[in-house]
Amino acid sequence: MIHIKTPQEIEEFKVAGALSKTVLRRAGRMVRPGVTTREIDQMVESFIRLHGAVPGFKGLYGFPASICASANEEIVHGIPSERMLVEGDIISIDTGATAGGWVGDNAWTFYVGTPPTETQALCEVTLDCLKAGIEQAVPGNHIGDIGHAVQTLAEKNGFGVVREYVGHGVGRMMHEDPNVPNFGKKGRGVRLQAGMVIAIEPMICQGTYKNHTLANGWTVVTNDGKPAAHYENTVAITKDGPVILTQDADGPWCPFQGGE
Ligand code: MG
Repeated sequence: MIHIKTPQEIEEFKVAGALSKTVLRRAGRMVRPGVTTREIDQMVESFIRLHGAVPGFKGLYGFPASICASANEEIVHGIPSERMLVEGDIISIDTGATAGGWVGDNAWTFYVGTPPTETQALCEVTLDCLKAGIEQAVPGNHIGDIGHAVQTLAEKNGFGVVREYVGHGVGRMMHEDPNVPNFGKKGRGVRLQAGMVIAIEPMICQGTYKNHTLANGWTVVTNDGKPAAHYENTVAITKDGPVILTQDADGPWCPFQGGE
């Protein structure tokens, strides 16, 4: 069932969205060679709780941490650990916060030092895929228009689009209807209407999109070991067009470069 939010509720939603973005931005500032993903996770959890909010991921379906931290060939759902980031890595950090009863959900893939040029291109294109998807989030369009825009841009650049994991409706719960795939056909799927709030989150692979889950039951990795990138914002569909809810005073985007 799709929950339609009132304009007032969408205004309230911005509190959770701003906190989710601010903490993601702060996580990005910690990204540098030698930092562990657990240290980032601990900062994120403390920061969210300090602001009277609740980490969106901790305990969700049993997930053990407040961020998903997915490096290089890890696509999504990486578990924070003592793993140290090293020069040339990329790291996707997914943060969510529940504040005022609403859930913000956003993710960003940061550079650890200077990744290879082709990996940076993957990140740039994946962010462009997110932007192309958001552009389609207008009343009267369909879910398939979002997926089509993302898939077309990714595949034009020779990259693979993950099929098994998709964006989703967001509201009082992290995951609501509808699913928001990163692939699809124009004009297909649920018709978009004002008051829907969705997380758009392209997961794009440098090589094959085929993937598997590690023995820990969570971490999803590419079958060919090549890197994957992941960018996400929570977006309200309104009569005036898409409104990105996961934005703070510095806007809805982070720098690619970790440590900034
Ligand atoms: Mg999400």
